[in-house]
Amino acid sequence: MIDSNQKFKGQTVIVTGSSSGIGKACAVYLGQLGANVVVNYSANEEAANEVLEEIKKGGGNGIVVKADVSREEEVKALFNRTISEYGKLDILVSNAGLQKDASFLEMTLQQWQKVIDVNLTGQFLCTREAARQFVAQEKEASKEGQPDHSELSSGKIILMSSVHDIIPWAGHVNYAASKGGIMMLMKSISQELAPHKIRVNSVSPGAIKTTINKEVWSDPEKYKDLLKLIPYKRIGTPQDVAKAVAWLASDDSDYVNGETLYIDGGMTLYPEFADNG
Ligand code: NAD
Repeated sequence: MIDSNQKFKGQTVIVTGSSSGIGKACAVYLGQLGANVVVNYSANEEAANEVLEEIKKGGGNGIVVKADVSREEEVKALFNRTISEYGKLDILVSNAGLQKDASFLEMTLQQWQKVIDVNLTGQFLCTREAARQFVAQEKEASKEGQPDHSELSSGKIILMSSVHDIIPWAGHVNYAASKGGIMMLMKSISQELAPHKIRVNSVSPGAIKTTINKEVWSDPEKYKDLLKLIPYKRIGTPQDVAKAVAWLASDDSDYVNGETLYIDGGMTLYPEFADNG
C-alpha cells in the first residue's frame, strides 16, 4: 500500500506552463505527493527554476524543460526529454494558456490565432504526444508481463479548461472558443483512448487568483463585482485547482473518464437567479 502522502511516488508528470499560477501550484503539489515533475515553461526560465527549487525543498524531484506548446517540434522535444530522463510518463497536466482580449468587432486575426494556437492546438499537440507515449508503454508492459506503476490506469491526462467552456464571454470570444473546443477535444479523445485504459478529464476553474486576472482582483471595485458572480464569496486559489487535479490524476478517481470538473465556487450556478431571478 502506497503512503497516501506519496501517492505519486515513482510516477512522472509533465505540467505545461508551470512557471506560474495554476500550473505552478499543480507542479509543486504533485511534487510533494512524490511525483517526478517536469516543469515546462515557454519564456520565464528563472521562474521555472524557482518552481523546481520549491519542489526540491518539499522533498520532491524534477527537471525544467523549455517548450512552446503551440509548436509541434518543441512539444515532441519536451516529451523526448522527459522519457530520456525518467524512462516513462504517467500523467500530463495540459495547463498552458493565455488571453488576448478584444471586443469581437476589434479582434484581429492575430489575437484570435494566438489564443487558438496556444490554448487549443497546444492541448491537441500535448495530449496526442502523451497518448502516443501511454499506448507505447502499455504495449511494452503487456509484452514484459509487468504492471504499470499506476495500479489501475495506463495514463492520465488532465486538460485545463475554464468555466468559459460553458459560460459565454463577450470581449473574449477567442478564449471562450478555445475553452469550448477543449471540452469536445477532451470528450472525444477520452472516448477514443478509454480502451487503452487511458483516462482523460478536464478541470474548469472559475476565477482563480493568478496574474492572468490580476487586473480584476487587485482593484477593490472590480473585486466586489467579481464576488457577485461567485456564490461561495471568495476568489479561488491555485491550490484549490491543484488539489482537484491531483485527485483526477490519482487512482482514487479511476472510474472517472471524459468528465469536466468545475472548480468555481458555484460560478456556473447562474448566481443572478439566486434571488428569484
Ligand atoms: P498564468 O498566466 O499564471 O499561467 C499560464 C502559463 O502558461 C504561464 O506560465 C505561461 O508562461 C504559460 N504559457 C503561455 N503560453 C505558453 C506556450 N505557448 N507554451 C508554454 N507555456 C505557455 O495564468 P493561470 O491563471 O495560472 O492560467 C493557467 C491555465 O488556467 C490557463 O489555461 C488558463 O486559461 C486557465 N484558467 C485560469 C483561470 C483563472 O482565473 N486564473 C480560470 C480558468 C482557467
